[in-house]
Amino acid sequence: MDQSKIDTLREQSVPAFSHLIEGVHVPASDGGTVDILSPINGTVLTTTAKGTKADMDAAIASARAAFEDGRWAGQPPAARKKVLMKWADLIEENVLELAVLGVRDNGTEISMAIKAEPGSAAVTIRYYAEALDKIYGEIAPTPGDILGMIHKEPVGVVGAIIPWNFPMMIGAWKLGPALAMGNSVVLKPSESASLSLMRMAELALEAGLPPGVLNAVTGEGHVVGEALGLSMDVDVLVFTGSGATGRKLMEYAARSNMKRVYLELGGKSPNIVFADAPNLDEAAKVTAGGIFRNSGQVCVAGSRLLVEASIHNEFVAAVAKASEAMRVGDPLSVDTHIGAINSDDQLNANLGFVKTAIAEGGEIITGGERILEETGGYYMAPTIVTGVTKDATLAQKEVFGPVLGVTPFSSEEEAISLANSTVYGLAGAAWTANLGRAHRMVKAVRTGVMHINTYGGVDGTVPLGGIGQSGNGSDKSLHAIEKYLNLKTAWIKL
Ligand code: NAD
Repeated sequence: MDQSKIDTLREQSVPAFSHLIEGVHVPASDGGTVDILSPINGTVLTTTAKGTKADMDAAIASARAAFEDGRWAGQPPAARKKVLMKWADLIEENVLELAVLGVRDNGTEISMAIKAEPGSAAVTIRYYAEALDKIYGEIAPTPGDILGMIHKEPVGVVGAIIPWNFPMMIGAWKLGPALAMGNSVVLKPSESASLSLMRMAELALEAGLPPGVLNAVTGEGHVVGEALGLSMDVDVLVFTGSGATGRKLMEYAARSNMKRVYLELGGKSPNIVFADAPNLDEAAKVTAGGIFRNSGQVCVAGSRLLVEASIHNEFVAAVAKASEAMRVGDPLSVDTHIGAINSDDQLNANLGFVKTAIAEGGEIITGGERILEETGGYYMAPTIVTGVTKDATLAQKEVFGPVLGVTPFSSEEEAISLANSTVYGLAGAAWTANLGRAHRMVKAVRTGVMHINTYGGVDGTVPLGGIGQSGNGSDKSLHAIEKYLNLKTAWIKL
């Protein structure tokens, strides 16, 4: 990564963003705008359109018309593939520009953002472009006088609502399979990080995606997100974000056209370290990275450290040492390990969790406070709290910040019981050299993904989905495609 190129890009002024509807930029119907604050220094970076219900309705109507006239769904698969491949190429050609814009908007450290954001978005779009002409229908094993065929059809109009922590990566997880299967999409980025995703949507048009097939509306969740959720003309809603919003989306679906709703929600993922882990130093470093990269604003963050009592003190000290060695600061410096918290509100919420943890008997081993306040930005020291009991707030509620709660255990059974003691089930890890135990942990811990002797780094070939209150359905892999298809049976008497 070239620091001087990054520094040149960070000085550039950011133009005001408007909606993207029917292939053109349109302001909010009432002219409203939202100030976009940079978490790096708290200054206003630019504005986006503050969408209204009328704006969202126009975007949905345009997407519906695009779907019905077949300008995209009706194209041969090879033609659709060409456009999506070109889009992935354009994202890669603009990788630094997109990454820096995204970091100025959401505060993720550039060392992580460049790969995880535009880099991974391009890989995802290409994956589904390559897959789109390899999805076949089926012929059923019917009696001889019947031909039973199963057709796979696009669902129609997909609404996609995206959070702020990895807008391009998560956006691509929805847009890639939805568009590859021939659907039209109405995209609603987060008001806390919409710029890079809006720019990525513009690149789709440059790549040749027909107008109206991908419309994007910026603004507040409770206005434009609600209008999307309540629409009678959206067939499937795909969402990544908080459980509270996820509940509302299910309600919106029930109150409107009973659209299918797929939710990727939060977690309180257990990172379980046994005394027989193959390399405790390595485990400590990966544990620190598994919670503190992107300031803990990662859905699968290993936010609960469950550690065997016999190595508790030694292991916690090693994790504290590893986390203190991580540099917190300017997210646009290539040397930074941990960037900024997305917003003032999120930072204050994180500090509130630390206060509660202390009130409930926890002890701070390192961190616990806001730092670098003089920058005007939102930064927090990586924080480790020990003495977190099974029912403590820090063991039960998602912080979505750089706060690690530690709980000791004395047996494999106790570790499993603690691991499964929340309403979530998104990710987890077990560190052990015992092969039998490793497989037992994979089976016993109720999560969507279980790591063994590592944390994070799973790629797009495998699904990511939660169970319990972490959500339903999956992003990534060929399994994600199922969300964007209807099955239709043809029963033909011969
Ligand atoms: P959020 O729920 O506040 O917002 C997510 C999106 O929903 C935003 O675009 C927002 O504008 C929109 N929204 C808000 N209120 C709405 C409403 N009433 N109707 C419709 N839309 C509405 O979540 P966030 O703070 O942006 O993201 C953090 C959360 O996302 C965390 O809980 C995190 O764990 C979760 N997350 C999950 C995954 C996963 O794959 N499971 C990945 C990343 C983040």
